[in-house]
Amino acid sequence: MRIITVPCLKDNYAYLIAAGDSCAVVDPSEPGPVVAALDREGLKLTHILNTHHHNDHTGGNMALKERYGALVVGAEYDRHRIPGLHIGVSEKTGWDFAGHAVQVLEVPAHTRGAITFVIDGNAFTGDTLFVMGCGRLFEGDAAMMAASLAKLKALPDETKIWCGHEYAASNGRFALTLEPGNAALQARMKNFRTPSVPATLAEEKATNPFLRADSREIRKTLGMENADTVSVFAEIRSRKDVF
Ligand code: ZN
Ligand code: FE
Repeated sequence: MRIITVPCLKDNYAYLIAAGDSCAVVDPSEPGPVVAALDREGLKLTHILNTHHHNDHTGGNMALKERYGALVVGAEYDRHRIPGLHIGVSEKTGWDFAGHAVQVLEVPAHTRGAITFVIDGNAFTGDTLFVMGCGRLFEGDAAMMAASLAKLKALPDETKIWCGHEYAASNGRFALTLEPGNAALQARMKNFRTPSVPATLAEEKATNPFLRADSREIRKTLGMENADTVSVFAEIRSRKDVF
């Protein structure tokens, strides 16, 4: 299995996943860069995977579906708002891509129907988990996002994280305001370059403040030493909203 990063729009990432005679694209914002990447790599698109319904993740669905006859795979929950959806999936159904078992994790909060696809140790997290950050709470609250991130945090440490946007530089600067003494974070920002994907889950657990609501330093920065995890998480999220 081969994964190819395809920058789209201003800071979106789509991904090609090539396996045997099949090729999927994850979150095509727009058709142009995806078609160019397929041509360059000599691949023919068979599937379109959507992590959530937002237009900057599904905007290329219809054009690519028409051009290649590709099947659209996404959350059954959001069938009414994912353009061209053929195969509706959930945590229960999972999916199979070219003989590779695909784990579907339901991770609501950025949107209610948000999912993460996990394929051979690669997690396509959309706008739920970003490199050193997490998505905004458009359709859920802090408790819901914390629970969704806890699901991702339970994946193996070596899992590769492929997220929906290149936000890592700004996310890292924000993380340093909360945890300036985190040596792993300092090192990561010192060696920073783009594209920041893929990151490993281990790196995220060591540096991403949204996975670190139990960090003593973060709690001290926020003056929330004895607060519960969700309250700390909510405070981190609201500070990031205005960073
Ligand atoms: Zn989104
Ligand atoms: Fe997005």
